[in-house]
Amino acid sequence: MSDRPAPPARSEPREIVELRRLKEEQPDLGAAIDLQIELLQLQRRVQSRVTLPSIRLETEYLNSQLAKGPILQFEHLPIDWSDVRFLLRATASAMRTHDAIEDSDLRRIDALGRDASRLPVVLRSWYDAARPGGSAIDPDGVGLESVLQQAMRPILTRCADAILARTDLAAWRHHICPLCGGEPDLAVITPAAERLLICGRCAAKWVFDQISCPYCLNDDRSKITSLASRDGRYRLSCCESCMRYIKAYDARRVGRHVMPPVDGVATLPLDAAAIQRGYQ
Ligand SMILES: [Zn+2]
Ligand SMILES: [Zn+2]
Repeated sequence: MSDRPAPPARSEPREIVELRRLKEEQPDLGAAIDLQIELLQLQRRVQSRVTLPSIRLETEYLNSQLAKGPILQFEHLPIDWSDVRFLLRATASAMRTHDAIEDSDLRRIDALGRDASRLPVVLRSWYDAARPGGSAIDPDGVGLESVLQQAMRPILTRCADAILARTDLAAWRHHICPLCGGEPDLAVITPAAERLLICGRCAAKWVFDQISCPYCLNDDRSKITSLASRDGRYRLSCCESCMRYIKAYDARRVGRHVMPPVDGVATLPLDAAAIQRGYQ
């Protein structure tokens, strides 16, 4: 037996470190946290080899595209189909293990991953469905949106990083993502008291009105209900008009930056409270 100290743990990404800390604080969230850690590890395996999007990465060009609407089109995505098939299967199987999807969903993803002609069609329909003027998602993708979203995350976040670093978002005040056209699923309130929306697909952040509902654009204060977590770290804005809600991380209260994979899990109790009140 050697009494040498154990080697230091390989340095983990901050999001995973935060998730482990959260699990100690809130053991009730353990299952959701384990799943999130597994998904992050999976996404990191692929992320490092995702190439740049096939779009001219010049500020003037990107700004001119933004003036017409969300910049990133499906054909710009640097898709390696064997990576996508791997991500789909591994994501679905992790989600199944943690009871986040049904057995039948796992089988559908398996079938989709094996169908080289259907997969691009379904993926494109999922991507375009959220965009302005987009049509409905292909029936083969219906109900699998959460798997597709997680699986495409390494590609979409990579594109967002590359493009948004070279784009001026100052004029973008819309409720949808300037990059992929997706909906926000989280917000952050900055120390300057601005509200930034965060895309649920590519994690792009952009400034949005502090009050308005980002789903139906209702801006009547009397029709927005706010709830806060006990520690004041998170807030909910619930819209009485469309009955949807958005969660926000209040960065004025805490020292760290917003981390969507962490804050999304940390706010699951707030989701439950909102759903109990009839919001969706
Ligand atoms: Zn986006
Ligand atoms: Zn609304």
